[in-house]
Amino acid sequence: MLRACVPPRRPPRLKGNEQRDDLPVARRSLPQGGGRRGLLKPVATTTAVLLLLTAGGVLLFLQPLRRQLAPQGLPGLEARTSPDGRLLAHFPYPEAASGTLVAVAPGLKLKPEAAEALLAMQRAAAAEGVDLRLLSAFRSIELQKRIFFDVKAERNQSAQERAQVSAPPGFSEHSTGYAVDLGDGTSPKSHLGEGFDRTPAFRWLKAHANRFHYQLSFPRGNSQGVSYEPWHWRYEGSLEALRLFEPARQLSR
Ligand SMILES: [Zn+2]
Repeated sequence: MLRACVPPRRPPRLKGNEQRDDLPVARRSLPQGGGRRGLLKPVATTTAVLLLLTAGGVLLFLQPLRRQLAPQGLPGLEARTSPDGRLLAHFPYPEAASGTLVAVAPGLKLKPEAAEALLAMQRAAAAEGVDLRLLSAFRSIELQKRIFFDVKAERNQSAQERAQVSAPPGFSEHSTGYAVDLGDGTSPKSHLGEGFDRTPAFRWLKAHANRFHYQLSFPRGNSQGVSYEPWHWRYEGSLEALRLFEPARQLSR
């Protein structure tokens, strides 16, 4: 029992917070001299002030973060999030910390479990003569911002039009380190286009990706409302990945 460690009786002279059961044993055994007790007060006050200052600092730091995580929309984007947190049909996703990612191809990174499964999948495909190419993997929110806003401006698209083919920054599965864009090495023209679903690589993925815990995120007519992306697959083979993609999975059931 926990209370067995607490002395059954305390000297009756103890007052105030010194009578609390959770007072550390070390402090209870301090000599009760007036000088030492006089010192404790300023120390406690200083500690309280420091704690308050730290809490204030943390709140200030969290303010912009909270705005980013629970956006009412995004600056430069005339759209609002829906009650389930989606912006232009895309769910919000956090950015994987760079230290948690591993290189899976030159310049391309993924979470380790997603990387391992992808490499195994590419080997299995190659053994059957299929050239499964990794075109894109982890993308930082900053990079997603450039892709979304630069291309939107370049193509003179509305946010809605742009969101049909690219997620707004902070709302891309790529920022989790669990999503990939795949192509067929023998058919570069089909890369990142609907025509990819007529390639041997796509046919192979439809038949085997499941075995490696990769799922097509946006099949044709998906209930999330994102346009068909035969090239975009997400890894769902770990608890963290399942947790991140749960809202999207629920919607697709
Ligand atoms: Zn993608």
